[in-house]
Amino acid sequence: MFKKVLIANRGEIALRVVRVCKQFGIKTVAVYSTADRDSLHVRFADEAVCIGPPNSRESYLKIPRIIAAAEITGADAIHPGYGFLAENAAFAEICDSSGITFIGPTPEMIRAMGDKAVAKETMKNAGVPVVPGSEGVVKTAGEGLEIARAIGLPVIIKAVAGGGGRGMRIVREDSEFETAFKIAQHEAEQGFNNPDVYIEKYVDQPRHVEIQVFGDRHGNVIHFGERDCSVQRRHQKLIEEAPSPVVDDELRTRMGEAAVRGCKSVNYLNAGTVEFLVDKDRNFYFMEMNTRIQVEHPVTEQVTGHDLIKLQFRVAAGERLPKKKIVPRGHAIECRVNAEDPAAGFRPSPGRIKDFHIPGGFGVRVDTHAYTDYVVPPYYDSLIAKLIVYAQTREGAIQKMAGALEEFVIEGIKTTVPFHRQVMADERFRSGKFDTSFLDTFQFHAGQEGEGPA
Ligand code: ADP
Repeated sequence: MFKKVLIANRGEIALRVVRVCKQFGIKTVAVYSTADRDSLHVRFADEAVCIGPPNSRESYLKIPRIIAAAEITGADAIHPGYGFLAENAAFAEICDSSGITFIGPTPEMIRAMGDKAVAKETMKNAGVPVVPGSEGVVKTAGEGLEIARAIGLPVIIKAVAGGGGRGMRIVREDSEFETAFKIAQHEAEQGFNNPDVYIEKYVDQPRHVEIQVFGDRHGNVIHFGERDCSVQRRHQKLIEEAPSPVVDDELRTRMGEAAVRGCKSVNYLNAGTVEFLVDKDRNFYFMEMNTRIQVEHPVTEQVTGHDLIKLQFRVAAGERLPKKKIVPRGHAIECRVNAEDPAAGFRPSPGRIKDFHIPGGFGVRVDTHAYTDYVVPPYYDSLIAKLIVYAQTREGAIQKMAGALEEFVIEGIKTTVPFHRQVMADERFRSGKFDTSFLDTFQFHAGQEGEGPA
């Protein structure tokens, strides 16, 4: 096992990794920008190195500074968390050539699966059903329109380098296609430094269901069942659960086997997520793969009993994956608590937290780096806590989540807590019968219940 690990991230995930290191007896090195000086991941790590100013391009994304921090402190491995450099193949490569283990897949796998168009080809070749669409990158609007007509509108134009719900455009009419295509290319260039886009059929009323996979250095690839992430706002996940209300044992086996088959075809290593859309008739189609641990991994941990971050360390150190078949038990839900104002279009709401009280009890888990008097900086993503509950049934989990949300006190800034309270009370959410458009029609009533004083 590693002796000293540098965590190339911030926020709750950095703290989460620090905690795992302590269990292994591994020394930890935190890196931080000047905006995160007072962050808990800095406080609880054994050593901390300041790597630059708040702007993440000058700190958390600055590869030479992170490698230098690892070399100065003598770290033998780096955990990238999610976001920032987690899916940066060049970073993984530089770690390798510096003799530092990157706790994640190899640079080749990140390249193959991180490019959405290549990943689709790879999965298709492995016999995994994919969303119908263009074969790889589409260069011109004219070519795109022909493809769109052939697969049938509506279609979705996606940036090959896109992520986080960004870089996507839905087209419903022929006449809108050309403009939309050009805007999509332009946005892709601006947002991801890569103008390449591809086209997919827009699946009607789908659910987002993803399979957690893991590969080890001995050629084994296994899956840990699914997570349902259909509660999204503008293609960004807000609530996740496991198991999915639409997945039964039979579908889980088929989706799991498909995900494993696809990953085996590239000898996949470490944690990954294979994302699918499931249509009304329960057909599933591969959408994309994330070559990292995901924000929503705790719901899988709760229903499988496996600590997935620990497992990342184990397989990175050469250990074998568990042999026993993994069967999910009970039900887990995660609500993302963001420093955002749900009454104002989820506008970011950074600032000082004046009071912070987290819920607790049997089957209640809070992953957070925040505390009373913590200042949420405006520079990074707005996630300040993940509230995860576990119960034997979905109904029980919703009940438990509602109670936990009632107890969650965050004062001084606006958060998504009041929004989640209303979702837990919503009939459609409770019935489990909804799709990724659920939040399009969901009405948030500001100030209705428990809106903390601003
Ligand atoms: P990102 O990498 O930005 O998360 P994804 O490819 O995972 O992008 O897509 C995010 C969300 O966008 C999906 O969960 C789904 O709600 C929606 N989406 C993406 N592709 C399609 C499609 N072909 N049809 C319908 N919805 C889609």
